[in-house]
Amino acid sequence: MGKENIKIIILKYLQTTNVHPTGNEIYNELNKLQYIDEKEFQAALFDLEDNGRISYTLSTDNLKHYDIRLYRHHHFICDDCGAVRDIFIRDGALQMLIDHAQRSINSFGKITKVNLSFQGRCHNCKTQFSYPPDWPPPNNE
Ligand SMILES: [Zn+2]
Ligand SMILES: [Zn+2]
Repeated sequence: MGKENIKIIILKYLQTTNVHPTGNEIYNELNKLQYIDEKEFQAALFDLEDNGRISYTLSTDNLKHYDIRLYRHHHFICDDCGAVRDIFIRDGALQMLIDHAQRSINSFGKITKVNLSFQGRCHNCKTQFSYPPDWPPPNNE
């Protein structure tokens, strides 16, 4: 299978999952269906990353967790296993946070990009993580 075809099946696979798999996880999953050369796979994954077709989050396991969702969203990252899940914060709430942060940094600089993630423990890991009582915030969109 050529690199271009591998790119297509990587993109298709990422569209079907919201677990933000690592490169190894993607490779193992796709390789179950048909044999893929590991070097070609790595080259295809790198190309997609390089061309901005996919993004990644560096998790607490120090691995890149890949994401096909390029629109603005945030992540919950498990401290124990490094699992990554999406968090969607409504624009109004996010803007309030950005305004607040901008006010405190006004004399020093201007915020142009927000890189926000939340950490805790996923339910698969032993210690239970509990959300604050008012979670999730009401969604008025
Ligand atoms: Zn976990
Ligand atoms: Zn994501």
